[in-house]
Amino acid sequence: MPLSIINPATEAIITEVEEADAAAVSQAVEAAHRAFTHGPWRKTPVDARQAILRRCAQTIIAHADELARIETDNSGITLSQAKDRHVLRAAYNFNFFADYIGQTSGAVYDQTADYLTWVVREPIGVAALISPWNAPIALGSMKIAAAIAFGNSCVIKPSEQAPLGLMRLVELLGKAGLPPDVVRLVNGRGAITGEALVRHPLTTVISFTGGTAAGRHILSVAGSLLKPATMELGGKSANIIFASADYERALDAALLSIYSNNGQQCLAGSRILVERPIAQRFIDDFVARTKALRIGSPLDPETELGPLASRRHLEHVLSFTPESDGGGVQLLTGGRRAAGFERGYYIEPTVVLLTDQGHRICQEEIFGPFAAISVFDTAQEAYALANGTRYGLVSYVWSQDVDRLAEAQQALTSGVVWCNTPMMRELRAPFGGIKDSGLGAEGGQACEALYTRAKTISTPRRPLPVRKLGLSS
Ligand code: NAD
Repeated sequence: MPLSIINPATEAIITEVEEADAAAVSQAVEAAHRAFTHGPWRKTPVDARQAILRRCAQTIIAHADELARIETDNSGITLSQAKDRHVLRAAYNFNFFADYIGQTSGAVYDQTADYLTWVVREPIGVAALISPWNAPIALGSMKIAAAIAFGNSCVIKPSEQAPLGLMRLVELLGKAGLPPDVVRLVNGRGAITGEALVRHPLTTVISFTGGTAAGRHILSVAGSLLKPATMELGGKSANIIFASADYERALDAALLSIYSNNGQQCLAGSRILVERPIAQRFIDDFVARTKALRIGSPLDPETELGPLASRRHLEHVLSFTPESDGGGVQLLTGGRRAAGFERGYYIEPTVVLLTDQGHRICQEEIFGPFAAISVFDTAQEAYALANGTRYGLVSYVWSQDVDRLAEAQQALTSGVVWCNTPMMRELRAPFGGIKDSGLGAEGGQACEALYTRAKTISTPRRPLPVRKLGLSS
């Protein structure tokens, strides 16, 4: 079945892609499996594998303009962010894992007299990689680079609404010297193509990034099939700004944390918690800067906020606009489709002031340029608010009081805590959420653990006597 791929800035159909049904998925998985079992990749010495991964990075950089333009046309991400952040990140992902595999080593256990035991990590097989639409190239390339660096093959299924950037990237990887079928791509919807990929008997590990509902379902399927899996899911992250913060940096970062990538990021600081002494000033400044954001075509270098990624998502985000003030919520700005655009899924960036923390604006992932501000009086109150959702991906804390920061780092229940900084992805460290934000993590060691399996080898250090059986007659 053909799927229409839409440009969210113009609503025009860019192209159609063919959805892979179960048979087509099977074909791709079997090819990747053959590449794994009979192809050269897993046996390629690490030095040579590193060289190919680095060529993948170079090839991505050489095609940065083209890739960024495809990504922008298909996702609405501004061209400047697509090029300077997403495509560069994709290249970095390949270089990072090239470096990483050059430094890995197994473990040796020599404490037992007479025996030596060591552990090697072997590639696990064919990885099923499932990625979302909000940062297709950046997130998909992380999965591909990590999976293949350790000698695996993989089949990636991009989001059905924004597959074009990853399709081109996978094409380019072939030109960089990767053996055939080490990376395969299948297009299609989650329930059809994704489901077939997860369930296929020859996929041996699953890496999923997407919403919590789909993640929960996929993890249950993976569990029933005993496939290891990692789930990078949604977030509702708190950004706590104490009165002791460096005010200007905290303000700049609060805007960046909610509005970059058109507001569509799992790690967005979507709940801004401000300490009362600076609250009114912060709210006034934040709203003024929000109103001044330049909304426009993602191709325009001046644009700060492009369109949302799809009509369905636009409707989802707008469904959170309060109809009137009251009931614990006050609309400060935005909440409507942006004026002046005949076409495209443009929205006014939105700020609300919340006093009811049970409100769905505080509890559900909106995944758009939609900031919810709340005011707190004590640090303990701030931590309780920050921890008071079903999510636990990231927390942001702003203070110049080191004791306060130390306290916050311990009090916050999230996989990542960023102190006095907006988004900071350190690939060497695990990135992953707790509670409904996921299970497992991505990062150097975390990916090594996921994409390899341990094999323990034991041998005596000298020919030891073996107890003899069956000599009684
Ligand atoms: P989604 O869950 O709708 O889809 C994600 C991917 O999963 C798509 O490719 C989709 O086709 C596939 N899928 C859906 N159902 C499936 C099934 N039953 N079997 C197999 N595959 C299936 O999410 P989305 O709307 O594309 O992305 C937005 C979500 O992703 C947000 O919740 C966001 O927070 C999350 N996200 C998380 C991270 C992170 O690192 N934690 C990063 C980016 C996005």
